[in-house]
Amino acid sequence: MRPISYLRVSVTDRCDFRCVYCMSENMNFLPKKELLTLEELDRMCSTFVGLGVEKLRITGGEPLVRRDIMTFFNSMSRHLDSGDLKELTLTTNGSQLHRFAKDLHAAGVRRINISLDTLDEKKFADITRWGRLPQVLKGIDAARNAGLRVKINVVALKGFNEDELFSIADWCAQEDMDLTFIEVMPMGDIGNEDRIDQYWPLEDLRARLAERFTLTDLPERTGGPARYVKLEETGQKIGFITPLTHNFCESCNRVRLTCTGELFMCLGQEDNADLRAPLRANPDSTTPLDAAIRDAISRKPKGHDFDYSRQNVGGQMSRHMSHTGG
Ligand code: SAM
Ligand code: SF4
Repeated sequence: MRPISYLRVSVTDRCDFRCVYCMSENMNFLPKKELLTLEELDRMCSTFVGLGVEKLRITGGEPLVRRDIMTFFNSMSRHLDSGDLKELTLTTNGSQLHRFAKDLHAAGVRRINISLDTLDEKKFADITRWGRLPQVLKGIDAARNAGLRVKINVVALKGFNEDELFSIADWCAQEDMDLTFIEVMPMGDIGNEDRIDQYWPLEDLRARLAERFTLTDLPERTGGPARYVKLEETGQKIGFITPLTHNFCESCNRVRLTCTGELFMCLGQEDNADLRAPLRANPDSTTPLDAAIRDAISRKPKGHDFDYSRQNVGGQMSRHMSHTGG
């Protein structure tokens, strides 16, 4: 079986923001019974850990709005204690961190990704519709005070945060936070926004950075789409994620689990396996679930062997990021 060491899990499709590139303002969320319960999430993740997953990233929707989510984090920390799991982490919009940062650290979380596309209060309210910047900045402070290492994820949006490229980079350098830019992806039906207008290729963003800094490509690979450069003048490391560039399939070590228990083997493909059915049908045994996971992973595209997979990825995805987990 292909080694899968990294699992991303969406624990909810709900969110307290409505980022324009992610959701429509009046999103329909899934009925509760469709979602994996916290106990089911625990069994599911623990089975993956048993199969060799060493890094678990919790995402959503907004993971920290799921009721009692700390119960799940606290429970997962036993796999850190045993050494089977090397890293437990999350991607969050930061809105609830002032409440949970300390508890997350106590559960063994050491690094987190916080999504933040602008440092301007008005623009922040515009892009997230429901979010408020001061609350997120307070969350970032709380995270750092709790001893969590922070990486800021910025979606690159043409005409929106182009003018903040250097101010965001400087802010992250000053605050000693890592920084990654994400290319915007067309995903799901999110209302009227014309996303073509928002598309800012990271190649252009990189060229802009190179006007001011000397960029050195770093060999670092994490098995995913991120590439890193070092700014020689400051020593700062900056990441670039181009989700639609599928040139890393051979080394891809990750799979995604949706909040309803579907396993997606590849972000660019619709192929998925329903893991909720074997989980719910067998409350006392993980053997059928284990077999279903192995079977699904054996279908994971290998890139060159399945070249058609690379021709399929440019179009609109019917899934929402908030469902699959970004
Ligand atoms: N709510 C959490 C957050 O915003 O960090 C976690 C889930 S969110 C779906 C995960 C990441 O996906 C965020 O960094 C978000 O900016 C990114 N994202 C959402 N929609 C996207 C899109 N259409 N293109 C690129 N990135 C997107
Ligand atoms: Fe919510 Fe994250 Fe999507 Fe924004 S990107 S709407 S914070 S799930």
